[in-house]
Amino acid sequence: MTEEIRVRFAPSPTGYLHIGGARTAILNWLFARQNNGKLILRIEDTDIERSTSEMTQGILDGLEWLGIEWDEGPFYQTDFIKEHIVAAERLLASGHAYKCFCSKELLEEKREKAKALKDDFRYDRTCRGLSEAKVAEFEAAGRPYVIRLKVPEGDGAVVFDDAVYGTITKRYQDIEDFIIVRANGQPLYPLSNVVDDARDRISHVIRGQDGLGNTPKQILIYQALGEKLPVFAHMCLTLDPKRAKISKRKHGELVAIHFYREHGFLPWALVNFLMLLGWSTPESREYFSYEELLEEFSFKGMNRANSVFNVNINDPKFITDPKAVNMNAHYIKTLPLSELEPYVRAELEKAGLWQEAYAGEKREWFLATVDLIRARYHLLTDFATLGLPYFSDDVEVSIDDKPRRRNLEKFPSLREWLPQLADRLENMADFSEAAIEEIMRALADEVEVKPGVIINGVRTVITGQLAGPGLFEIVTTIGRERVVARLRRTPQII
Ligand code: GLU
Repeated sequence: MTEEIRVRFAPSPTGYLHIGGARTAILNWLFARQNNGKLILRIEDTDIERSTSEMTQGILDGLEWLGIEWDEGPFYQTDFIKEHIVAAERLLASGHAYKCFCSKELLEEKREKAKALKDDFRYDRTCRGLSEAKVAEFEAAGRPYVIRLKVPEGDGAVVFDDAVYGTITKRYQDIEDFIIVRANGQPLYPLSNVVDDARDRISHVIRGQDGLGNTPKQILIYQALGEKLPVFAHMCLTLDPKRAKISKRKHGELVAIHFYREHGFLPWALVNFLMLLGWSTPESREYFSYEELLEEFSFKGMNRANSVFNVNINDPKFITDPKAVNMNAHYIKTLPLSELEPYVRAELEKAGLWQEAYAGEKREWFLATVDLIRARYHLLTDFATLGLPYFSDDVEVSIDDKPRRRNLEKFPSLREWLPQLADRLENMADFSEAAIEEIMRALADEVEVKPGVIINGVRTVITGQLAGPGLFEIVTTIGRERVVARLRRTPQII
């Protein structure tokens, strides 16, 4: 029987879900789905001071919004602290770990000395050789101690094959006898993480490249506990344009998943974009459906070189990486209308523009309108802002400066021409695009201007915008009554 694929996403709830965390979650999720495996969600909340339940909730909400479903959990690491201690005691009993009574002050002194000599400080294993009697004596005297792992001595090395970074070798002599339990009894991350992964029978550890440095130490713990090693697959890091690691501390909201949700991103557009930060196909394909990702994804396509996310921290107007925005525009344009519908509805609701009729008797009109205007939109929020002339019954359309100057102020006679046009539109029998075009061209002929003057004037008065779909389609979509009312207000506008 082949082994069950079990992966986990193990965020620390010390901050919101951000770009890096989401990438890790997505890769684990895809890998699980691709292999009929299980995704386990484990909240690593052992840093009690910095972990909060709001952050945990934020992480769960972010995953749900992205469409990432886990199969087991959420488990909370703090519920397993006793197990971690038991594991440390086992390691003490089997001689793989030892109690270290060296005081902080003493270690600090040694560290300073090493620094003065320009040496790297590594714990000198003073307590590794303590006799049982000495240990008992120190304990009886109530001296505090930490528990350290006994790193093997000699010329050997930890060698493992990372599924992305290849063979990694770390010599034993370059690994300190690191602490696994603090003096206050708190187990430390390398131990807790391994004990939990072993208990949860994790077959593949897929995480950020910043975990690579810890992996040799963790492998030593696996070996000391007699546990089977998982496969490790580390993902490259994401850097900002100045090549600094993307982080919550440095980039704040701009790297938070909720930021993208609030700024009009479709979750799948973000998933697709994040996948490409560190993974590619030989033909550098850009757009993937969920099924296509399942088909195409493999560790082979994961890049070792760090990826760059063009978050612009200096320009508050700049929403995010233009590639991400373009990805979003692509999905806004191409998603089946019925799939896009709930997202547009949510935007309009937020903006107070939603009408129940859009889900009832006006649904056909609503979907046709969304279809007409979406081709140029980049963010879902555009439906509420650029889409205002379509979804608002308020005739007070706000007019951008450029079209006002270019299309209205240059032709003051539009004050008379557009209300005249309104009368004609009101009275025409067949309110079709072709008939509307004919009427506008005829009026332009009569008043001896190019048709563009009338057409652009109408566009500006009824939408306030310079560009958009074809004008005659706009007119039929917004509808006769509303167009006529807006055109009649031209004298107040120019
Ligand atoms: N809690 C760790 C983190 O958020 C998990 C690292 C791992 O996946 O092993 O960085």
